Amino acid sequence: MLELRPCCEHCGKNLPPNSTSARICTYECTFCKDCVDEFFTNVCPNCGGGFVPRPIRPANQLSKYPAKKEALHRPVDLAKYQTLYLKNKNIKPENR
Ligand SMILES: [Zn+2]
Ligand SMILES: [Zn+2]
Repeated sequence: MLELRPCCEHCGKNLPPNSTSARICTYECTFCKDCVDEFFTNVCPNCGGGFVPRPIRPANQLSKYPAKKEALHRPVDLAKYQTLYLKNKNIKPENR
């Protein structure tokens, strides 16, 4: 089941289950749209995969299947990230 992590890993912005700004990779590394647009484009800093918008879980499902509570806030070292970014930015995720 999708974890629905509570905030952006990079900037810490809150991303509640109904947020339309949440972006996730295949491992559910979770970032906000602003960070993805500004820094990461379509290259996840943790795994090098692409991003998609996180699906909204309907509110009536959350009591049974709640969002994850523990925040994972670990800002990306943007200088180190450049190597991974430059290697992948021009390759579509499906071809990486
Ligand atoms: Zn962010
Ligand atoms: Zn990832």
